Amino acid sequence: MTRRNFGSLLAFSTSALAQQAPAPPNPNTSEQRRGTIQEVPPFQDALSFTRKNAPSRVNAFAMSQVRLLEGPFKDAEEWNRGYMQRLPADRLLHNFRLNAGLPSSAEPFGGWEEPKGELRGHFTGHYLSASALLYASTGDQDIKAKGDLMVAELAKCQEKLGGGYLSAFPLEFWDRLDALKKVWAPFYTIHKIMAGMFDMYSLAGNQQALEVLKGMAGWADTWTGSKSEEHMQEILKTEYGGMNEVLYNLAAATGEDRWAKVGDRFTKKTFFNPLASRRDELRGLHVNTHIPQVIGAARRYEISGDERFHDVADFFWYEVVSARTYVTGGTSNGEGWLVPPRQLAAELKRSVATAECCCAYNMMKLTRHLYSWTADPRYFDYYERTMLNHRIGAIYPKTGATQYYLSLTPGAWKTFNTDDHSFWCCTGTGAEEFSKLNDSIYWHDDKGLYVNLFVPSELNWSEKGVHIRQTNKFPEQQSTLLTVTTDKPTAFEMRIRVPEWIADGSSVKINGKALEVSASPGSYLTISRTWKNGDKVEVELPMKLRVESMPDDHKLRAFLYGPLVLAGDLGSAGLTPKLTVGPNATRLKDVPPVDIPTFKAASADPASWIKPAGKPLTFKTTGQVKDVQLAPINSIFDKRYSVYWEVS
Ligand SMILES: [Zn+2]
Repeated sequence: MTRRNFGSLLAFSTSALAQQAPAPPNPNTSEQRRGTIQEVPPFQDALSFTRKNAPSRVNAFAMSQVRLLEGPFKDAEEWNRGYMQRLPADRLLHNFRLNAGLPSSAEPFGGWEEPKGELRGHFTGHYLSASALLYASTGDQDIKAKGDLMVAELAKCQEKLGGGYLSAFPLEFWDRLDALKKVWAPFYTIHKIMAGMFDMYSLAGNQQALEVLKGMAGWADTWTGSKSEEHMQEILKTEYGGMNEVLYNLAAATGEDRWAKVGDRFTKKTFFNPLASRRDELRGLHVNTHIPQVIGAARRYEISGDERFHDVADFFWYEVVSARTYVTGGTSNGEGWLVPPRQLAAELKRSVATAECCCAYNMMKLTRHLYSWTADPRYFDYYERTMLNHRIGAIYPKTGATQYYLSLTPGAWKTFNTDDHSFWCCTGTGAEEFSKLNDSIYWHDDKGLYVNLFVPSELNWSEKGVHIRQTNKFPEQQSTLLTVTTDKPTAFEMRIRVPEWIADGSSVKINGKALEVSASPGSYLTISRTWKNGDKVEVELPMKLRVESMPDDHKLRAFLYGPLVLAGDLGSAGLTPKLTVGPNATRLKDVPPVDIPTFKAASADPASWIKPAGKPLTFKTTGQVKDVQLAPINSIFDKRYSVYWEVS
């Protein structure tokens, strides 16, 4: 089915009372390629790499140019920094040293980092990435020094192991992978360490990390280079993270095509062929195994201009976001896509383990690539939805513990990692996520600035001699204020995202005077002027109550206020610390059942029966057999909740 057909079906099936989320963008695909079923699979032949940079429309500012100001994002950054500070370098290095035959008396971690665990070392890789990101975000010299020390110590391990291979587990794992015998995910783990090295090099200026990475990439070249194409395709059935991505990044950073050719060996053809032909064959796949591969495809397109890779990324993103994503922006259930597209109500019933956090992390990473190609603001509707509803409330206040799944099963609650006995995949991406919350707020092109997120922050646009300071209490306050500081009057366009959720009554004022402008939701409001020191832009961002229904069950509905998904407070009966800290998912059988009310809507407008409840952003149903308090899901902790409700 072509996207155009899908669009019309979507429009046809939308009821007046409840809308599905608006169709996200998929604008950069030519008519010719759209919907064509090609007789020859696009990735049938052997790949050949030729460097040719694909054009980008916009670029994000470097994280070192943006600093968070006081607000929920800054709080989350600090909580995560505290967690990272509590993990000693010697413990993070322990398994690597033992594997290299070097002494270590550190106390081993537990969970997925326990000394016999088959993923051991993965979190240390994430930790390096998170350190580099946090340094770029905040300039924190202590975290950089710790990252530098770990790179130096890991380099010693690599040296002891022969100068190429670097891992916390022995080569025997690779013999099992080669023989297609049971082993968890060696390349997945190696990818985290390589990505950590790449980030320490590219974001924290550590040259030794680049040398370590080249050694690892050389080892990966030798290991994969000895396999036939058919055998390699079998090996790729075992999760391998973003091996393709990090090798393309290395090729781009060094100008050495050799690494891109190694990256090409990590092209899983059974996965890419249908995507490049714009077919959804995602059912049955493990979600977080595959999103990183698509990020790799996006990078491959960017450094080669090969449209097949563009189409893989473009169609995959469109399909996951439009057909396999819950109202919070999360995707997956039990870590997989379990049903055909657009059957989320059916999928929701399959398990409580909905919406794995690292899937959201990686989808947002992919979103940045697609946005940079198109500058389509609707990508940031998805990004903001996922950030506000799935990510920013997935970190526990003060402790900095993070989640594995954000369950959407009625009656579920949030569960969090322990400090040193969890180390799930999502603990790793969590440490990265909350180290980079200043990323992607501001973008730029030749003409000027894009403001995509309403996060209190300061941009040092050093290339123009301009500072932008964004202050607000968003989303509690439905507005944002941008203040320009500049040495001399400077002409540029300021483009402010007008979100898809915006209600009537928005306005823009410059230095207190209302502008006679309009921009529709899902577009940019462009202000073109010569900016003077102290100019102030005040944007009203009015919110309203909204309803979104499941695509396959229009009675199953979620309520939103502006960009915020509301969850109903079902109390905390039966919840104990044992159930909220440690388990990777909600264990419904360990608590008494909770009554999940159903609702009768008084009219099509939810505001007719869902009323403000006194505190900001909280609401209460009215006129129901059992009324419920609603609050943003990102504010709910140590409570049972429901996001989806039966509404008649
Ligand atoms: Zn995960």
